[in-house]
Amino acid sequence: MKTSHKSLYEDVQIQFKKAADLMNMNPGIRNILSQTANEIVVHFPVKMDNGNVKMFTGYRVQHNNILGPYKGGLRYHPSVDLDDAKALATWMTWKTAIAGLPYGGAKGGIQFDPADHSLAELEHITRRFTFALGNNIGPEYDIPAPDVNTGPQTMAWILDTFLSTRPQGERNNNLHVVTGKPLNSGGTLGRDRATGYGVVTNISEWARDNKMDLGKCTYIVQGFGNVGSWAASFMKQKGAKLLAVEDVNGILYNEKGLDPDELITYAKNNKGNLSTYPNAATIQHKEFLSLKADIFIPAALSNQITMETAPLLNVRLVAEGANGPTTPDADLILQQRGIGLIPDVLCNSGGVIGSYFEWLQNKRSEYWELEEVMEKIRKKVTEAYSNVSKTAKDHKTDLRTAAYIVALTRLEKAYLERGIFP
Ligand code: NAD
Repeated sequence: MKTSHKSLYEDVQIQFKKAADLMNMNPGIRNILSQTANEIVVHFPVKMDNGNVKMFTGYRVQHNNILGPYKGGLRYHPSVDLDDAKALATWMTWKTAIAGLPYGGAKGGIQFDPADHSLAELEHITRRFTFALGNNIGPEYDIPAPDVNTGPQTMAWILDTFLSTRPQGERNNNLHVVTGKPLNSGGTLGRDRATGYGVVTNISEWARDNKMDLGKCTYIVQGFGNVGSWAASFMKQKGAKLLAVEDVNGILYNEKGLDPDELITYAKNNKGNLSTYPNAATIQHKEFLSLKADIFIPAALSNQITMETAPLLNVRLVAEGANGPTTPDADLILQQRGIGLIPDVLCNSGGVIGSYFEWLQNKRSEYWELEEVMEKIRKKVTEAYSNVSKTAKDHKTDLRTAAYIVALTRLEKAYLERGIFP
Protein backbone atom coordinates (compact mmCIF):
# COMPACT_ATOMS: atom_id res chain seq x y z
CA MET A 1 0.00 0.00 0.00
CA LYS A 2 3.01 2.39 -0.18
CA THR A 3 2.80 5.12 -2.81
CA SER A 4 5.10 7.92 -3.92
CA HIS A 5 2.42 10.53 -3.27
CA LYS A 6 3.71 13.62 -1.45
CA SER A 7 1.19 15.89 0.20
CA LEU A 8 -2.35 15.10 1.30
CA TYR A 9 -2.93 18.77 2.09
CA GLU A 10 -2.09 19.69 -1.53
CA ASP A 11 -4.80 17.24 -2.61
CA VAL A 12 -7.31 19.04 -0.40
CA GLN A 13 -6.32 22.36 -1.97
CA ILE A 14 -6.83 20.95 -5.49
CA GLN A 15 -10.31 19.67 -4.57
CA PHE A 16 -11.13 22.96 -2.81
CA LYS A 17 -10.03 25.10 -5.77
CA LYS A 18 -12.17 23.12 -8.20
CA ALA A 19 -15.33 23.61 -6.13
CA ALA A 20 -14.61 27.24 -5.16
CA ASP A 21 -14.06 28.13 -8.84
CA LEU A 22 -17.23 26.38 -9.92
CA MET A 23 -19.42 28.10 -7.31
CA ASN A 24 -17.65 31.43 -7.78
CA MET A 25 -16.84 31.71 -4.13
CA ASN A 26 -16.29 35.01 -2.34
CA PRO A 27 -12.48 35.59 -2.60
CA GLY A 28 -12.02 36.75 1.03
CA ILE A 29 -13.83 33.73 2.44
CA ARG A 30 -11.92 31.52 0.07
CA ASN A 31 -8.69 32.89 1.60
CA ILE A 32 -9.92 32.12 5.11
CA LEU A 33 -10.93 28.55 4.32
CA SER A 34 -7.75 27.75 2.42
CA GLN A 35 -5.80 27.96 5.70
CA THR A 36 -5.97 26.10 8.98
CA ALA A 37 -6.69 28.20 12.10
CA ASN A 38 -4.38 26.52 14.64
CA GLU A 39 -1.63 23.93 14.31
CA ILE A 40 -0.58 22.53 17.67
CA VAL A 41 2.52 20.33 17.90
CA VAL A 42 3.49 18.88 21.27
CA HIS A 43 6.58 16.90 22.25
CA PHE A 44 6.11 15.02 25.49
CA PRO A 45 7.98 12.43 27.59
CA VAL A 46 6.56 9.06 28.66
CA LYS A 47 8.11 6.52 31.01
CA MET A 48 8.19 3.08 29.35
CA ASP A 49 7.59 -0.24 31.16
CA ASN A 50 11.37 -0.79 31.46
CA GLY A 51 11.86 2.60 33.18
CA ASN A 52 13.36 4.37 30.14
CA VAL A 53 11.94 7.75 29.12
CA LYS A 54 10.90 8.14 25.49
CA MET A 55 9.83 11.34 23.68
CA PHE A 56 6.70 11.40 21.49
CA THR A 57 5.31 13.96 19.04
CA GLY A 58 1.60 14.67 18.93
CA TYR A 59 -0.48 16.92 16.69
CA ARG A 60 -3.83 18.68 16.81
CA VAL A 61 -4.79 20.83 13.85
CA GLN A 62 -7.93 22.98 14.08
CA HIS A 63 -9.07 24.09 10.66
CA ASN A 64 -12.22 26.16 11.18
CA ASN A 65 -14.91 26.70 13.85
CA ILE A 66 -17.35 29.23 12.41
CA LEU A 67 -20.19 26.66 12.52
CA GLY A 68 -19.36 25.27 15.98
CA PRO A 69 -16.64 23.63 18.11
CA TYR A 70 -13.74 21.93 16.35
CA LYS A 71 -14.44 18.21 15.88
CA GLY A 72 -12.36 15.32 14.58
CA GLY A 73 -10.50 12.13 15.36
CA LEU A 74 -7.14 11.23 16.83
CA ARG A 75 -4.97 8.76 14.96
CA TYR A 76 -2.05 6.68 16.25
CA HIS A 77 0.15 5.77 13.29
CA PRO A 78 3.77 6.23 12.10
CA SER A 79 2.46 8.26 9.12
CA VAL A 80 0.85 10.96 11.31
CA ASP A 81 2.46 14.34 10.59
CA LEU A 82 1.49 17.99 10.27
CA ASP A 83 0.62 17.76 6.57
CA ASP A 84 -1.72 14.80 7.10
CA ALA A 85 -3.33 16.39 10.15
CA LYS A 86 -3.94 19.63 8.19
CA ALA A 87 -5.60 17.73 5.36
CA LEU A 88 -7.71 15.58 7.67
CA ALA A 89 -8.75 18.61 9.76
CA THR A 90 -9.86 20.48 6.64
CA TRP A 91 -11.90 17.49 5.47
CA MET A 92 -13.62 17.48 8.86
CA THR A 93 -14.77 21.09 8.34
CA TRP A 94 -16.34 20.10 5.02
CA LYS A 95 -17.79 16.87 6.47
CA THR A 96 -19.56 18.47 9.43
CA ALA A 97 -20.89 21.25 7.19
CA ILE A 98 -22.22 18.74 4.62
CA ALA A 99 -23.92 16.77 7.42
CA GLY A 100 -25.51 19.96 8.75
CA LEU A 101 -23.89 19.63 12.19
CA PRO A 102 -23.04 22.55 14.51
CA TYR A 103 -19.32 21.74 14.34
CA GLY A 104 -16.07 22.82 12.76
CA GLY A 105 -13.14 20.62 11.75
CA ALA A 106 -10.03 19.31 13.51
CA LYS A 107 -7.80 16.25 13.47
CA GLY A 108 -4.68 15.02 15.20
CA GLY A 109 -2.79 12.12 16.60
CA ILE A 110 0.56 10.80 17.61
CA GLN A 111 3.32 9.69 15.26
CA PHE A 112 4.12 6.16 16.46
CA ASP A 113 3.17 2.54 15.96
CA PRO A 114 0.92 1.38 18.82
CA ALA A 115 1.79 -2.24 18.00
CA ASP A 116 5.24 -1.57 19.52
CA HIS A 117 3.78 -0.81 22.96
CA SER A 118 2.09 -2.60 25.86
CA LEU A 119 -1.39 -1.62 27.03
CA ALA A 120 0.12 0.16 30.04
CA GLU A 121 2.44 2.18 27.79
CA LEU A 122 -0.46 3.08 25.48
CA GLU A 123 -2.37 4.37 28.48
CA HIS A 124 0.59 6.49 29.64
CA ILE A 125 1.20 7.85 26.12
CA THR A 126 -2.49 8.78 25.76
CA ARG A 127 -2.74 10.40 29.17
CA ARG A 128 0.46 12.40 28.74
CA PHE A 129 -0.65 13.55 25.25
CA THR A 130 -3.98 14.71 26.71
CA PHE A 131 -2.12 16.60 29.43
CA ALA A 132 0.17 18.20 26.82
CA LEU A 133 -2.87 19.34 24.79
CA GLY A 134 -4.30 20.96 27.94
CA ASN A 135 -6.97 23.54 27.16
CA ASN A 136 -6.52 23.12 23.41
CA ILE A 137 -9.33 20.55 23.69
CA GLY A 138 -12.62 21.01 25.56
CA PRO A 139 -16.29 19.96 25.35
CA GLU A 140 -17.44 23.23 23.79
CA TYR A 141 -14.15 24.01 22.03
CA ASP A 142 -12.48 20.99 20.40
CA ILE A 143 -13.86 17.47 20.76
CA PRO A 144 -11.65 14.51 19.71
CA ALA A 145 -12.96 11.06 18.67
CA PRO A 146 -11.47 7.70 17.59
CA ASP A 147 -9.70 7.18 14.27
CA VAL A 148 -7.06 4.71 13.02
CA ASN A 149 -5.67 2.62 15.92
CA THR A 150 -7.65 4.48 18.58
CA GLY A 151 -11.00 3.43 20.03
CA PRO A 152 -13.32 3.62 23.06
CA GLN A 153 -10.52 2.68 25.48
CA THR A 154 -8.34 5.54 24.18
CA MET A 155 -11.28 7.93 24.60
CA ALA A 156 -11.88 6.70 28.18
CA TRP A 157 -8.24 7.50 29.10
CA ILE A 158 -8.49 10.96 27.49
CA LEU A 159 -11.76 11.63 29.31
CA ASP A 160 -10.37 10.55 32.67
CA THR A 161 -7.21 12.63 32.26
CA PHE A 162 -9.14 15.69 31.11
CA LEU A 163 -11.66 15.42 33.98
CA SER A 164 -8.87 14.87 36.52
CA THR A 165 -7.37 18.22 35.56
CA ARG A 166 -10.69 20.14 36.03
CA PRO A 167 -11.88 21.65 39.30
CA GLN A 168 -13.98 19.17 41.36
CA GLY A 169 -17.33 20.80 40.63
CA GLU A 170 -16.81 20.86 36.85
CA ARG A 171 -15.99 17.22 36.23
CA ASN A 172 -19.41 15.85 35.48
CA ASN A 173 -20.36 18.56 33.02
CA ASN A 174 -17.28 17.87 30.87
CA LEU A 175 -18.18 14.33 29.77
CA HIS A 176 -18.63 15.50 26.19
CA VAL A 177 -14.95 16.45 25.80
CA VAL A 178 -14.54 13.32 23.65
CA THR A 179 -16.97 11.12 21.71
CA GLY A 180 -16.65 7.45 20.86
CA LYS A 181 -16.41 6.66 24.58
CA PRO A 182 -17.30 3.25 26.07
CA LEU A 183 -21.01 3.04 26.99
CA ASN A 184 -20.38 3.10 30.76
CA SER A 185 -18.35 6.26 30.47
CA GLY A 186 -20.95 8.29 28.59
CA GLY A 187 -20.71 6.69 25.16
CA THR A 188 -23.76 6.17 22.98
CA LEU A 189 -25.26 3.00 21.61
CA GLY A 190 -24.55 2.85 17.89
CA ARG A 191 -21.35 4.96 17.79
CA ASP A 192 -19.30 1.79 17.19
CA ARG A 193 -21.19 1.00 13.97
CA ALA A 194 -22.10 4.56 12.95
CA THR A 195 -19.44 5.07 10.27
CA GLY A 196 -19.94 1.69 8.59
CA TYR A 197 -23.71 2.20 8.73
CA GLY A 198 -23.32 5.62 7.10
CA VAL A 199 -21.16 4.11 4.35
CA VAL A 200 -23.81 1.50 3.54
CA THR A 201 -26.64 4.06 3.77
CA ASN A 202 -24.80 6.15 1.16
CA ILE A 203 -24.19 3.09 -1.01
CA SER A 204 -27.91 2.24 -0.84
CA GLU A 205 -28.85 5.76 -1.93
CA TRP A 206 -26.37 5.65 -4.80
CA ALA A 207 -27.58 2.16 -5.80
CA ARG A 208 -31.18 3.39 -5.94
CA ASP A 209 -30.17 6.38 -8.12
CA ASN A 210 -28.12 4.15 -10.41
CA LYS A 211 -30.49 1.17 -10.56
CA MET A 212 -28.07 -1.22 -8.89
CA ASP A 213 -29.57 -4.12 -6.93
CA LEU A 214 -27.45 -4.51 -3.78
CA GLY A 215 -28.90 -7.98 -3.21
CA LYS A 216 -27.08 -9.10 -6.38
CA CYS A 217 -23.88 -7.12 -5.81
CA THR A 218 -20.34 -8.18 -5.08
CA TYR A 219 -17.84 -5.98 -3.27
CA ILE A 220 -14.30 -5.81 -1.89
CA VAL A 221 -13.08 -4.03 1.25
CA GLN A 222 -9.67 -2.61 2.14
CA GLY A 223 -9.23 -2.31 5.92
CA PHE A 224 -11.21 -4.45 8.32
CA GLY A 225 -11.10 -2.24 11.41
CA ASN A 226 -13.99 -0.23 12.76
CA VAL A 227 -15.20 1.18 9.45
CA GLY A 228 -14.47 -1.75 7.12
CA SER A 229 -15.88 -4.48 9.36
CA TRP A 230 -19.13 -2.67 10.19
CA ALA A 231 -19.61 -1.62 6.57
CA ALA A 232 -19.19 -5.27 5.52
CA SER A 233 -21.63 -6.42 8.17
CA PHE A 234 -24.29 -3.95 6.97
CA MET A 235 -23.61 -4.92 3.32
CA LYS A 236 -24.36 -8.51 4.33
CA GLN A 237 -27.76 -7.36 5.61
CA LYS A 238 -28.39 -5.91 2.13
CA GLY A 239 -27.59 -9.32 0.61
CA ALA A 240 -24.34 -8.25 -1.08
CA LYS A 241 -21.46 -10.71 -1.44
CA LEU A 242 -18.00 -9.94 -0.02
CA LEU A 243 -15.31 -11.29 -2.36
CA ALA A 244 -12.09 -10.09 -0.73
CA VAL A 245 -10.69 -8.22 2.26
CA GLU A 246 -7.29 -6.57 2.52
CA ASP A 247 -5.83 -5.49 5.85
CA VAL A 248 -2.38 -4.70 7.19
CA ASN A 249 -1.55 -8.43 7.47
CA GLY A 250 -2.59 -9.51 3.98
CA ILE A 251 -5.51 -10.36 1.72
CA LEU A 252 -8.32 -12.94 1.98
CA TYR A 253 -10.20 -13.97 -1.16
CA ASN A 254 -13.07 -16.35 -1.77
CA GLU A 255 -15.04 -16.19 -5.02
CA LYS A 256 -17.98 -17.90 -3.30
CA GLY A 257 -18.07 -15.11 -0.74
CA LEU A 258 -16.68 -14.37 2.73
CA ASP A 259 -18.97 -14.02 5.74
CA PRO A 260 -18.21 -10.61 7.35
CA ASP A 261 -19.65 -11.58 10.75
CA GLU A 262 -17.53 -14.74 10.81
CA LEU A 263 -14.45 -12.65 9.97
CA ILE A 264 -15.28 -10.19 12.76
CA THR A 265 -15.50 -13.02 15.29
CA TYR A 266 -12.29 -14.55 13.93
CA ALA A 267 -10.45 -11.21 14.19
CA LYS A 268 -11.70 -10.75 17.77
CA ASN A 269 -10.38 -14.17 18.77
CA ASN A 270 -7.02 -13.64 17.01
CA LYS A 271 -5.95 -10.21 18.25
CA GLY A 272 -7.25 -8.57 15.06
CA ASN A 273 -5.14 -10.81 12.80
CA LEU A 274 -7.13 -12.26 9.88
CA SER A 275 -4.17 -13.71 8.00
CA THR A 276 -4.65 -17.24 9.38
CA TYR A 277 -8.40 -17.35 8.59
CA PRO A 278 -8.91 -20.80 7.00
CA ASN A 279 -11.83 -20.44 4.53
CA ALA A 280 -10.09 -18.23 1.99
CA ALA A 281 -7.20 -18.02 -0.45
CA THR A 282 -4.49 -15.36 -0.45
CA ILE A 283 -3.89 -13.04 -3.40
CA GLN A 284 -1.47 -10.17 -4.11
CA HIS A 285 -2.29 -6.46 -3.71
CA LYS A 286 -2.52 -5.77 -7.46
CA GLU A 287 -4.78 -8.80 -7.98
CA PHE A 288 -7.00 -7.54 -5.15
CA LEU A 289 -7.36 -4.12 -6.76
CA SER A 290 -8.08 -5.69 -10.17
CA LEU A 291 -10.85 -8.02 -8.93
CA LYS A 292 -14.10 -7.77 -10.84
CA ALA A 293 -16.76 -6.62 -8.36
CA ASP A 294 -19.53 -4.07 -8.23
CA ILE A 295 -18.24 -1.98 -5.33
CA PHE A 296 -14.87 -1.19 -3.74
CA ILE A 297 -14.92 0.13 -0.16
CA PRO A 298 -11.50 1.53 0.79
CA ALA A 299 -11.60 1.70 4.61
CA ALA A 300 -7.95 1.91 5.65
CA LEU A 301 -5.53 4.72 4.88
CA SER A 302 -5.21 7.56 2.35
CA ASN A 303 -3.58 7.53 -1.12
CA GLN A 304 -4.68 4.04 -2.15
CA ILE A 305 -6.34 4.90 -5.46
CA THR A 306 -3.64 6.73 -7.39
CA MET A 307 -2.56 7.33 -11.00
CA GLU A 308 -0.94 3.88 -10.87
CA THR A 309 -3.78 1.93 -9.25
CA ALA A 310 -6.92 3.68 -10.59
CA PRO A 311 -6.56 2.00 -14.02
CA LEU A 312 -6.59 -1.42 -12.30
CA LEU A 313 -10.00 -1.09 -10.65
CA ASN A 314 -12.74 -3.26 -12.11
CA VAL A 315 -15.79 -1.95 -10.21
CA ARG A 316 -18.80 0.30 -10.82
CA LEU A 317 -18.57 2.25 -7.58
CA VAL A 318 -15.90 3.36 -5.10
CA ALA A 319 -17.42 4.16 -1.67
CA GLU A 320 -14.80 6.01 0.36
CA GLY A 321 -15.00 4.73 3.94
CA ALA A 322 -11.43 5.95 4.56
CA ASN A 323 -10.41 9.60 4.47
CA GLY A 324 -8.51 10.61 1.35
CA PRO A 325 -8.12 7.20 -0.32
CA THR A 326 -8.27 8.72 -3.82
CA THR A 327 -5.79 11.28 -5.18
CA PRO A 328 -7.12 14.09 -7.45
CA ASP A 329 -5.46 12.64 -10.57
CA ALA A 330 -6.95 9.23 -9.80
CA ASP A 331 -10.34 10.92 -9.38
CA LEU A 332 -10.11 12.05 -13.00
CA ILE A 333 -9.15 8.58 -14.19
CA LEU A 334 -12.16 7.06 -12.41
CA GLN A 335 -14.46 9.67 -13.94
CA GLN A 336 -13.05 9.02 -17.42
CA ARG A 337 -13.57 5.29 -16.88
CA GLY A 338 -17.18 5.87 -15.79
CA ILE A 339 -16.62 4.55 -12.26
CA GLY A 340 -18.90 6.21 -9.70
CA LEU A 341 -17.48 7.55 -6.45
CA ILE A 342 -19.09 8.55 -3.15
CA PRO A 343 -16.57 10.94 -1.57
CA ASP A 344 -15.18 10.49 1.95
CA VAL A 345 -16.62 13.78 3.26
CA LEU A 346 -20.08 12.37 2.56
CA CYS A 347 -19.56 8.60 2.60
CA ASN A 348 -17.99 8.26 6.07
CA SER A 349 -19.93 11.08 7.76
CA GLY A 350 -22.04 8.59 9.76
CA GLY A 351 -19.20 8.53 12.32
CA VAL A 352 -19.24 12.21 13.17
CA ILE A 353 -23.04 12.22 13.03
CA GLY A 354 -23.06 9.41 15.63
CA SER A 355 -20.55 11.42 17.66
CA TYR A 356 -22.85 14.43 17.53
CA PHE A 357 -25.70 12.38 19.04
CA GLU A 358 -23.37 11.13 21.79
CA TRP A 359 -22.34 14.74 22.52
CA LEU A 360 -25.99 15.83 22.68
CA GLN A 361 -26.91 13.00 25.07
CA ASN A 362 -24.00 13.95 27.37
CA LYS A 363 -25.07 17.59 27.38
CA ARG A 364 -28.62 16.57 28.30
CA SER A 365 -27.66 13.71 30.67
CA GLU A 366 -29.69 11.28 28.57
CA TYR A 367 -29.25 7.75 27.18
CA TRP A 368 -31.07 6.98 23.93
CA GLU A 369 -32.13 3.57 22.58
CA LEU A 370 -30.05 2.02 19.77
CA GLU A 371 -32.96 2.18 17.29
CA GLU A 372 -33.42 5.89 17.99
CA VAL A 373 -29.73 6.67 17.40
CA MET A 374 -29.54 4.61 14.19
CA GLU A 375 -32.71 6.17 12.78
CA LYS A 376 -31.38 9.66 13.51
CA ILE A 377 -28.07 8.79 11.78
CA ARG A 378 -29.94 7.33 8.79
CA LYS A 379 -32.01 10.48 8.43
CA LYS A 380 -29.01 12.84 8.54
CA VAL A 381 -26.92 10.74 6.14
CA THR A 382 -29.81 10.44 3.69
CA GLU A 383 -30.44 14.19 3.78
CA ALA A 384 -26.76 14.89 3.19
CA TYR A 385 -26.67 12.45 0.24
CA SER A 386 -29.76 14.01 -1.26
CA ASN A 387 -28.33 17.58 -0.98
CA VAL A 388 -25.05 16.53 -2.55
CA SER A 389 -26.68 14.55 -5.32
CA LYS A 390 -29.00 17.45 -6.21
CA THR A 391 -26.06 19.90 -6.16
CA ALA A 392 -24.12 17.58 -8.50
CA LYS A 393 -27.00 17.69 -10.97
CA ASP A 394 -27.46 21.47 -10.64
CA HIS A 395 -23.76 22.15 -11.25
CA LYS A 396 -23.28 19.24 -13.68
CA THR A 397 -20.34 18.02 -11.65
CA ASP A 398 -19.09 14.97 -9.75
CA LEU A 399 -20.23 14.06 -6.22
CA ARG A 400 -16.96 15.14 -4.56
CA THR A 401 -17.05 18.61 -6.04
CA ALA A 402 -20.78 18.83 -5.26
CA ALA A 403 -20.13 17.83 -1.65
CA TYR A 404 -17.53 20.59 -1.40
CA ILE A 405 -20.01 23.09 -2.87
CA VAL A 406 -22.62 22.13 -0.24
CA ALA A 407 -20.04 22.64 2.55
CA LEU A 408 -18.52 25.83 1.14
CA THR A 409 -21.93 27.42 0.55
CA ARG A 410 -22.89 26.87 4.17
CA LEU A 411 -19.58 28.24 5.47
CA GLU A 412 -19.64 31.20 3.07
CA LYS A 413 -23.13 32.14 4.25
CA ALA A 414 -22.05 32.11 7.91
CA TYR A 415 -19.09 34.41 7.17
CA LEU A 416 -21.22 36.78 5.08
CA GLU A 417 -23.79 37.01 7.88
CA ARG A 418 -21.25 37.67 10.60
CA GLY A 419 -18.58 39.68 8.78
CA ILE A 420 -14.92 39.75 9.76
CA PHE A 421 -13.95 41.10 13.20
CA PRO A 422 -13.10 43.95 13.91
P1 NAD B 1 -9.01 0.99 12.43
O1 NAD B 1 -7.73 1.25 13.11
O2 NAD B 1 -10.15 0.46 13.22
O3 NAD B 1 -8.79 0.02 11.17
C1 NAD B 1 -7.85 0.29 10.20
C2 NAD B 1 -7.80 -0.90 9.27
O4 NAD B 1 -6.90 -0.57 8.20
C3 NAD B 1 -7.27 -2.18 9.91
O5 NAD B 1 -8.04 -3.28 9.48
C4 NAD B 1 -5.85 -2.29 9.35
O6 NAD B 1 -5.44 -3.64 9.25
C5 NAD B 1 -6.03 -1.67 7.99
N1 NAD B 1 -4.75 -1.21 7.47
C6 NAD B 1 -3.83 -0.45 8.07
N2 NAD B 1 -2.75 -0.33 7.30
C7 NAD B 1 -3.01 -1.02 6.19
C8 NAD B 1 -2.28 -1.31 5.03
N3 NAD B 1 -1.05 -0.82 4.88
N4 NAD B 1 -2.89 -2.06 4.06
C9 NAD B 1 -4.14 -2.55 4.22
N5 NAD B 1 -4.87 -2.32 5.32
C10 NAD B 1 -4.31 -1.58 6.28
O7 NAD B 1 -9.40 2.39 11.75
P2 NAD B 1 -10.84 2.91 11.34
O8 NAD B 1 -11.36 3.72 12.47
O9 NAD B 1 -11.64 1.80 10.78
O10 NAD B 1 -10.47 3.94 10.19
C11 NAD B 1 -10.26 3.54 8.84
C12 NAD B 1 -10.39 4.74 7.93
O11 NAD B 1 -11.69 5.31 8.09
C13 NAD B 1 -9.41 5.88 8.21
O12 NAD B 1 -9.09 6.50 7.00
C14 NAD B 1 -10.23 6.83 9.07
O13 NAD B 1 -9.75 8.16 9.01
C15 NAD B 1 -11.58 6.68 8.41
N6 NAD B 1 -12.71 7.07 9.27
C16 NAD B 1 -12.93 6.47 10.48
C17 NAD B 1 -14.02 6.85 11.23
C18 NAD B 1 -14.36 6.17 12.53
O14 NAD B 1 -15.44 6.43 13.07
N7 NAD B 1 -13.53 5.29 13.06
C19 NAD B 1 -14.89 7.84 10.77
C20 NAD B 1 -14.65 8.42 9.52
C21 NAD B 1 -13.57 8.02 8.78
